[in-house]
Amino acid sequence: MVATDVTTTSGYGSDLTGLVLHETGHGYDPTANGQLQSGSPAFSAAYQADLSAGNLTPYESTQQRTTAAGMSEAFANSFAAFYAGDSQYNLSHPNLYLYWSGDSPPAASCGTSC
Ligand SMILES: [Zn+2]
Repeated sequence: MVATDVTTTSGYGSDLTGLVLHETGHGYDPTANGQLQSGSPAFSAAYQADLSAGNLTPYESTQQRTTAAGMSEAFANSFAAFYAGDSQYNLSHPNLYLYWSGDSPPAASCGTSC
């Protein structure tokens, strides 16, 4: 939730629009019942699938996967990339792209939990 994280290391949103989208992603993360979408089985499955496939940047893969705060950053970064209209996002992060597209992640990666 630090403004500088998106401009210095994420690779996304190095302009004001990206920064606003990143912070909007944080605002979109909590659900009405107090849960975080970044901790949901569906988001975790998409994230882990892109992680396993080697699709994540070093920042995304090493600093974000181990904590809830880290997953929140991954959620905000991917929200920003998708809604900024990154034309390469479906190629660079295919599973997270599908997550944001409203499609289900591959069934094998999340079983019956999502
Ligand atoms: Zn952030």
